[in-house]
Amino acid sequence: MKSPHVSVFIFATITALLAPALQAGMKVVATTPDLGAIATAIGGDLAHVDSLAKPTEDTHFVDPKPSYVVKLAHADMLIEGGAELEIGWLPPLLEGARNVKLEAGRPGRVACAEGLPLLEVPAALDRAQGDIHAMGNPHFMVDPENGRHAAQRICAALCELDPGHRAAYEERYQSFTNRLDQRLVVWRQTLAPFTGRRVVSFHNAWPYFARSFGLTIDLFLEPKPGIPPTPAHLEEVINRMKAERIGVILVEPFQNRKTAETVAGRTGAALVDFTQYPGGVKGAGPGYIELLDYLVDTLAKALRDGQNGAPQP
Ligand SMILES: [Zn+2]
Repeated sequence: MKSPHVSVFIFATITALLAPALQAGMKVVATTPDLGAIATAIGGDLAHVDSLAKPTEDTHFVDPKPSYVVKLAHADMLIEGGAELEIGWLPPLLEGARNVKLEAGRPGRVACAEGLPLLEVPAALDRAQGDIHAMGNPHFMVDPENGRHAAQRICAALCELDPGHRAAYEERYQSFTNRLDQRLVVWRQTLAPFTGRRVVSFHNAWPYFARSFGLTIDLFLEPKPGIPPTPAHLEEVINRMKAERIGVILVEPFQNRKTAETVAGRTGAALVDFTQYPGGVKGAGPGYIELLDYLVDTLAKALRDGQNGAPQP
């Protein structure tokens, strides 16, 4: 005999499975929360947006839950970075979802990297030694100009799939980019005093951000993207940080904080909580523009403090 708990569980499960099919408006799935936040800004009340990866998760290695297959099966549109960030986990989910609307080349499949020149594209494709940036650096969304590019692609896809609401989507796109333009002026001013400064990060996720704001972020605690730090490599990083008086280390929520703390302790550098995603750390959200607000302000503060109390070589 079934217990009431089991019946409630079955009912809840069926409801959860049906829920995506019953939602009104465009059903949009974004692989990561930054793309989801922009889709929400453009789609407004005309779109129901789900982001698969959690903002605190390493988006190279997302835990593929069965509920993601259900979301993809019911979606009208899938927004992805499309520069191999999702290559390890999205294809099997799509295979399970069997949703023709999301097939590559369809208007429901939006790859935001399309039309963007990626940085660090290797001369020859080489996945040897576990390099997970084999096709170029996929962390392009933290450059506001690339955020604008993503918004433009998302708006175009929504207009194509839901032409009756074209005016509403285009109006929201315009107001998003107007806000982005205004903030970009402020962000550039805030970081202008630090042009040319070098910053260390755990993973090579910030070359687009660095280029956008005139910084250099080219020294990493990981010896190669996706390869955990080794003692020998860390020793080399510590020596370079001391020699070049680098005073800031960027660390994201899913990275090994203890390792970063050790390096900070040995060099006198400040540890700065960074994230590529709205909601990834406290104060970084809820939208894409608020994420950039947080990144710029937090980094500027750390660089300013570092100037006052320069790290001991
Ligand atoms: Zn990466």
